[in-house]
Amino acid sequence: MNDRMNDRGPVRWQRKTQPTATPIFTMPGWGTAIRRGLLMRCPSCGKASAFANWFNIRPRCPSCDAPLGDVPCESLPPYLTIVIGLAIIGIALILSDRHGHLDYRTSLLIFIPFAIFLQLVVQRPIKGVVLAVMMKLNMVRETHDG
Ligand SMILES: [Zn+2]
Repeated sequence: MNDRMNDRGPVRWQRKTQPTATPIFTMPGWGTAIRRGLLMRCPSCGKASAFANWFNIRPRCPSCDAPLGDVPCESLPPYLTIVIGLAIIGIALILSDRHGHLDYRTSLLIFIPFAIFLQLVVQRPIKGVVLAVMMKLNMVRETHDG
């Protein structure tokens, strides 16, 4: 017998708390927040780096204590980087081979390192912008410490 049942059938999922309209941390305007994200700084204060290492966001800002690690921005930045990178590489590939003289080995030697470069370098500012937008929209995971 499933214990997640009541007399009307299975218990439906319910949100534990109501979404709050007021942000739990102070945020600047959209332009400032996105600029700080592009510069990979904390979108809230801009005084510290938002990154703990090359890829990961800090759990909390050391300057203003904004909960950067509670923003669920793990999946969107790599996806956006792939979409943008595919567009850039696609255009570059078509333009470089428009006369049909580009050897496939040459194109592999050019475009595979270029694709790796895009993922390693372009993903950080994209992640910063996604972090800023999600913080502006108050999209922060529910914490259980208070
Ligand atoms: Zn901060």
